[in-house]
Amino acid sequence: MDLLEKCRAYTRADEARDVGLYPYYPVFQGPAEGGRAVLDGAEVCMLGSNDYRALSANRQVIGAAQDAIALYGTSAAGSRLLNGNLDLHEELEADLADFFGYEAALIFSTGYMTNLGVVSALAGHGDQVLLDEKAHASLVDGAQLAQASGAVVRRFGHRDPRDLARQLAAASTESILVATDGVFSMQGDLAPVAELVAVCEEYGATLLIDDAHGVGVLGRGRGVIEQAGMQGRVPLMTLTFSKSLASQGGAVLADAKTIDFLRHTSRPQIFSSGLSPADTSAAHAALREIRRRAEAEPDALAAADYLRRALDALGFDVARSVGPVILVRFPDQTSMLSAQRILLGYGMYTNAVFPPACEGYQLRIACTDAHTPDVLEAALGVFASLREELLPRYREAA
Ligand code: PMP
Repeated sequence: MDLLEKCRAYTRADEARDVGLYPYYPVFQGPAEGGRAVLDGAEVCMLGSNDYRALSANRQVIGAAQDAIALYGTSAAGSRLLNGNLDLHEELEADLADFFGYEAALIFSTGYMTNLGVVSALAGHGDQVLLDEKAHASLVDGAQLAQASGAVVRRFGHRDPRDLARQLAAASTESILVATDGVFSMQGDLAPVAELVAVCEEYGATLLIDDAHGVGVLGRGRGVIEQAGMQGRVPLMTLTFSKSLASQGGAVLADAKTIDFLRHTSRPQIFSSGLSPADTSAAHAALREIRRRAEAEPDALAAADYLRRALDALGFDVARSVGPVILVRFPDQTSMLSAQRILLGYGMYTNAVFPPACEGYQLRIACTDAHTPDVLEAALGVFASLREELLPRYREAA
């Protein structure tokens, strides 16, 4: 049996295609504006995007990316360590550190690589990594790399500071990294930041919060740490540019010595090219915009709140969730995929997710600042008229 036999034997995607319910890799044609997108030539209401602040179509953000290409070209053309380090990178890092209240920042090519690069550089032989059991795949994969260089890796119960304390008390080393998402976007809940800080401080463990989904939306744009009033108490924070910051890339925030260490030791940093000029400048312009709007409640939150209640009132099984994401639960994969397909038929794009990304089967709806009341009313109209079509299916299966 050769290596590729497993690919020839892989039928899962085909099974869904055969019954017309395959929901993945939809092909969108631009532009995605005003909460709308073009899918297979037809306009759809986009209820599945992480562009929470609707900044990817913002004129300033687009202009910044265009200017960066005009001035710097399209590529950083090498590792930052050698030739690919631009003043654009360093300026963005300085502003990120300033906005989030850290001494320094370091940019990576994606949010995934940020977590991979930070966890694997900081933990190895003699260290322990403790992950929330629902931590994002990028933290898990970073921990696996750390394990390969000798770190002990364990999970603590989801959002369970007591379990964390028990495991810290039993640990055989004091050199421990505790890592968690800030917002668990597939579970719809937040890390108990203040409690985790207290436990980590008590045991001298180092806390890392990946606030991919909180940044730009919660805590005056500064995310869950600020929302919990824990500024200055979380030594490591990571974020992505691919959601509220309307770009591509990611960053870690920490004290200056830690950032200097990561600049010289993190393999995804050293052995990968610097972020492109356009991505860097787009993220920077989006950060400026978020800073400018920091005191105003994001429209995405009010939109999600409204839609969550309205869907609940319509009889959908809506999970309790915080932030711009709404999770609608279904009893099995077929009813969830059918619902996604029916909604799409009515011009409503939602994300179909199921294990292992989340527990159970759910449609993940994400609101953005572009979801104005008329867009929401149109979406609700579709959900309401479909209620009769959808609900019997999932009641039957329940
Ligand atoms: N962390 C979390 C919690 C995420 O949800 C994601 C993206 N889904 C990432 C990290 C990775 O970010 P990026 O898309 O920039 O690689």
